[in-house]
Amino acid sequence: MRSSKNILVLVDFDGTITQNDVGALLFDTFSKKESQKMVSRWLKGEISSRECLVRLCEITKISKSELKKFALSQKIDGRFRVFADLCKKERVKLVILSDGLDFYIKLILEKFGLEKLPFYSNILRFEGRRLKPEFPYFDRGCGNCGNCKRYHLKNLRGTKQKVVYIGDGLSDKCAVREADFVLAKNDLQKYCLKEDINHYPFRNFGDVIQIFHDLILNQRKDTKSQIKITHKA
Ligand SMILES: [Mg+2]
Ligand SMILES: [Zn+2]
Repeated sequence: MRSSKNILVLVDFDGTITQNDVGALLFDTFSKKESQKMVSRWLKGEISSRECLVRLCEITKISKSELKKFALSQKIDGRFRVFADLCKKERVKLVILSDGLDFYIKLILEKFGLEKLPFYSNILRFEGRRLKPEFPYFDRGCGNCGNCKRYHLKNLRGTKQKVVYIGDGLSDKCAVREADFVLAKNDLQKYCLKEDINHYPFRNFGDVIQIFHDLILNQRKDTKSQIKITHKA
């Protein structure tokens, strides 16, 4: 029987699975644009991503039902489902890692019939129209990320397992140095280029499927040789 258990696929949520960065759009929409100042402070490295998320929640007022409606209006990459099915068929474990919030991730996954996919993220609680984020994995992370993806990568990786990491942004920085194969777009791609991290650039999950297929097929053809990605944009 064919098995690809030696591969673990980790994928970012906001802007990678979803078309929009749902978290960023949420805060932008419901904080009367005040969120932009906070985000630029985070981008400059003045505040940690955890602190940024705490402050964004403080300045945002939204009820649970409004947030639900907002989340359900979001779209995912049209080919992500095909990719998830491919992983299932190939018996490759696919896990979502997010420095965003569980509330909208869960709703969006359910909407697209993807609720069986495991995910690790920060948690959102509501107090009326106030948002209270919780960070169950913070202490195990790097001290900057609310939910550090590097921790999960190391924790989930099995012995001799190759890790494929797919992402689009700066919340993926901690993970890409530890991954065996990096698929990157947008800010993450710029980061990989700047830091000289080998990666496959991609635009959407159509590209991911193509790259992934090649990786798996390559590995089956010659299991002894290591697959090396040297492709750069
Ligand atoms: Mg992202
Ligand atoms: Zn981190």
